[in-house]
Amino acid sequence: MWNFIDKEISAATGTEFFAATRSSVGGGCINSTYRVEDDARRFFVKINRAERLPMFDAEAEGLREIVAAGAIRAPRPVCAGIAADCAFLAMEYINFSAPGKGAGEELGRRLAAMHQVAGPRHGWRLDNTIGATLQVNSPAENWAEFWRERRLGHQLALAARNGYQGVLQRQGGRLLSKLDGFFAGYAPPPSLLHGDLWGGNFGFDRAGAPVIFDPAVYYGDRETDLAMTELFGGFPPSFHAAYREAFPLDPGYRVRKTLYNLYHILNHLNLFGGGYLGEAEGMIALLLSEVG
Ligand code: ADP
Repeated sequence: MWNFIDKEISAATGTEFFAATRSSVGGGCINSTYRVEDDARRFFVKINRAERLPMFDAEAEGLREIVAAGAIRAPRPVCAGIAADCAFLAMEYINFSAPGKGAGEELGRRLAAMHQVAGPRHGWRLDNTIGATLQVNSPAENWAEFWRERRLGHQLALAARNGYQGVLQRQGGRLLSKLDGFFAGYAPPPSLLHGDLWGGNFGFDRAGAPVIFDPAVYYGDRETDLAMTELFGGFPPSFHAAYREAFPLDPGYRVRKTLYNLYHILNHLNLFGGGYLGEAEGMIALLLSEVG
């Protein structure tokens, strides 16, 4: 497998590459990850089962989209494919280092700049994955419909298949039918989004520049990325302040934040089980109380 990956990296970069060392890198949730290097170059390689190749192809495209936008650094994808019955994705290796002074602010400003990059419509040309779950990106008529059908509706249907019936489905269905109420006077443009921006998916390179990685890219309401940065923590107050200064938020964000994070909590319910059921139901109840 590794010889084949070396050849693919050589072909993709136009320079012969034979890895002298390959070391396993921890920290990922989904894939086996490795640092491979010769004396001149270093790459980051993810490995999974062969049927996961579409996930890697979509990740590579998403990274390409972020790199092309030029607002914030992300690893450049090198190649993806099948090697000896395994799917692989090779990308630029980033030398991460501890954040320096002003790092949080810079992350906020760069993310705000990325969110100024607009796509043609809400959605994306490829489906991808959020965690290990399929994330459907086919465009919809408008943002409210996109969020209802491709995001919350999709996760609620998965939850029903996973056996979560009852209150979750009843109240979830009510919420979907009232979704337009969260968007009165608010029609967000389709911003380029990271899509899975929790605290484990950003860092800083040796020059101190922020880097985002492991995205679930699509175009949509920038508030969704912001909401996720607040869901599990890990982003400093300086990040939030700098983002808002560069690109102020609509007052309705206060309520929509929960609507957007509900998608991730439902995804956690579907991936990790019933521990997230009470949280999802609580969020739905709160949202119903807001929309009347
Ligand atoms: P997974 O897809 O399994 O969730 P991640 O993309 O989150 O894997 O990567 C796992 C860890 O590897 C990250 O937490 C980060 O520390 C490190 N990492 C990710 N991408 C790179 C990269 N391009 N170069 C160097 N290290 C990386």
